[in-house]
Amino acid sequence: TSFQDFNLADALTRALKEENYTTPTPIQAQTIPIALQGRDVVGIAQTGTGKTASFALPILHRLLENRIKPQPKTARVLVLSPTRELSGQILDSFNTYGRHIRLSSALAIGGVPMGRQVRAVMPGLEVLVATPGRLLDLVQGNALKLSHVEFLVLDEADRMLDMGFINDIRKIVAKLPIKRQTLFFSATMPKDIAELADAMLRDPARVAV
Ligand code: AMP
Repeated sequence: TSFQDFNLADALTRALKEENYTTPTPIQAQTIPIALQGRDVVGIAQTGTGKTASFALPILHRLLENRIKPQPKTARVLVLSPTRELSGQILDSFNTYGRHIRLSSALAIGGVPMGRQVRAVMPGLEVLVATPGRLLDLVQGNALKLSHVEFLVLDEADRMLDMGFINDIRKIVAKLPIKRQTLFFSATMPKDIAELADAMLRDPARVAV
């Protein structure tokens, strides 16, 4: 498999070339074609396997297929991650792959004042990467509505559960549109994670590396 085989938007292929990506990693080779079809995916993969691109690339491609202006105080793509550090890395990846498309993106993470994040989401965003607690703070403060999310990613779901985010995640998912694409990644798949995935995903394809 090569990245050419995926027929990604030119702007994305160009960014990959500039990053010297030639060959998809195994998780990318398995996930990208399925996610491009719009299917839900549950993936078992560790950090360092290239899983960020395996969700960011197909989502960016599908965003570009229907490039609409986001509604104020909404996001088209919501990525949930356990930590500020990981959230920052995921946002950097979206911005790297999206460098030729003027992607509108922001972070919503705890531990920093909320004002800037409130202003960042005000005009509406294409991609919002968030930790669950701060995301709920923004929603409960009426700074953000989750009614227009088209793509949901859960990254490192097992770590989010270990950190006690399960109730926050359930509250967030309850506010999302039913009609959406969900990509769910975890390094491990114990029973409680599998049950969470079952509750959140519709007829998912399962991939593991
Ligand atoms: P991740 O597992 O998503 O954190 O990615 C690990 C690292 O591998 C990141 O620095 C990526 O930029 C890099 N990477 C991901 N996919 C590829 C690829 N297909 N070719 C080369 N580098 C990659």
